[in-house]
Amino acid sequence: MQLKFYNSLTRRLEPFVPLEPGRAGLYTCGPTVYNFAHVGNFRAYAFEDILHRTLEYAGYKLVHVMNLTDVDDKTIRGSRAAGVDLRDWTRQYKDAFFEDLKTLGIAPATVYPAATDHVPEMIALIEKLVERGVAYKAADGCVYFSVAKFPSYGKLAHLDFSGMRSGVRISNDEYAKDSVGDFALWKAWDEADGPVKWDSPWGPGRPGWHIECSAMSMKYLGESFDLHTGGIDNLFPHHENEIAQAEAATGKPFVRCWMHCAHLRVNGEKMSKSLGNFYTLRDLLAKGWSGREIRHVLVAGHYRQPLNFAFDTLSAARVALSRIDDFSRRMEELASAKGAAAPAGQSPDWPNRHVAAFEDALADDLNTPLAFAAAHSLVNEGNRLAQEGTATPADAAAALAALAKMDRVLGVLSRPADQIPEQLQALLDARAAARTSKNWAESDRLRDEIASLGWSVKDTRDGQRVSKC
Ligand code: AMP
Ligand code: ZN
Repeated sequence: MQLKFYNSLTRRLEPFVPLEPGRAGLYTCGPTVYNFAHVGNFRAYAFEDILHRTLEYAGYKLVHVMNLTDVDDKTIRGSRAAGVDLRDWTRQYKDAFFEDLKTLGIAPATVYPAATDHVPEMIALIEKLVERGVAYKAADGCVYFSVAKFPSYGKLAHLDFSGMRSGVRISNDEYAKDSVGDFALWKAWDEADGPVKWDSPWGPGRPGWHIECSAMSMKYLGESFDLHTGGIDNLFPHHENEIAQAEAATGKPFVRCWMHCAHLRVNGEKMSKSLGNFYTLRDLLAKGWSGREIRHVLVAGHYRQPLNFAFDTLSAARVALSRIDDFSRRMEELASAKGAAAPAGQSPDWPNRHVAAFEDALADDLNTPLAFAAAHSLVNEGNRLAQEGTATPADAAAALAALAKMDRVLGVLSRPADQIPEQLQALLDARAAARTSKNWAESDRLRDEIASLGWSVKDTRDGQRVSKC
């Protein structure tokens, strides 16, 4: 499977060629843990999950690093307002984040480094930049990166900073830094930081946000690595600054391929905390939507197209998933019918056509709309064969296997196990007892009672099998 991705750096669709054959290194900018993430944030994490799963599906041994920003203005402000230690304050949001990832079926990264555990690495990187003359300590005690000293600054955002390089100087009365574009690597401690500070060669303070990602990505993935992702709002200045810090320090190319997802919008505007137009995952769960339905909404659109958040889209996802579940149930029944096993080497081939279309779609810059279309055409063909009465148990088993294969990437197609309510379990137990004592009339009466609850029961060699009607 030759994967192709759109690289924000070159603005071209390119074949994915990793630095080391068979291996892939991926860094994704993670959450700032000062609050519950909203579903806009989860659009980015869901896109990154599709990338993660596609790389593994294609056979790459993946190292996926996602940072946790657990020190910045917002986390400090929040912890101080609550009168709680910064670590304790951020822990609750880290825990919530991991719980939300599970709810959305997002595959875990290999490692989740937290900024506060990597301050020595960040200090070492800043020292290197100071030694190389691309960073300086300013009058305000902070250390800044000098954009003028890094000639290729702007290459990711495709912006021309040459005017700035020719030396736009700002009066020192207003700005401590040499040039407006310079950004902080180390922030000197001030009273608003309270007890949050680390010692450094430049005095007490804390690292800036950008240096965090350069230091932690290189620690876990090396000075050059394959893929770096985020939402499109991270492209500038965050990712541009990451490149400047890393490449100015190492003299090596930092990342080969940058990928960015478009925003989740609400009425044409980016969903964001600052605009107040957001839903957290918890808000949506409380309204009765499932993690699976929300995931479907987040991954069914192409990651580079803006996606509008609307409850109609969630309803459409519910309908699409229940159709897939009906199909799975139908195929499960057919596959478990007598004579299910196909003779060796005679598994029907028709589902593989749909799997091939699915793989082509993903390989083409993670085209999930076409990948879902392949899943739906598998369902359509399977349903048609079942309707015509020509589907064999082997057809059904092969269709289920194809669906499961596709679900290794999409993560929404598998039918969740039916949760059996207590009342139903009691009726099933009573019916099993009635059947053991050959009381067929009671068994039939219980079957009707079970049906009135919306469930159907079948008797198999392995006992009663129950499914939702
Ligand atoms: P933040 O916590 O703001 O740094 O955001 C975490 C991740 O979510 C970053 O990759 C952002 O680019 C991404 N993000 C934030 N808002 C949205 C949105 N409305 N749609 C898609 N991605 C977003
Ligand atoms: Zn980052």
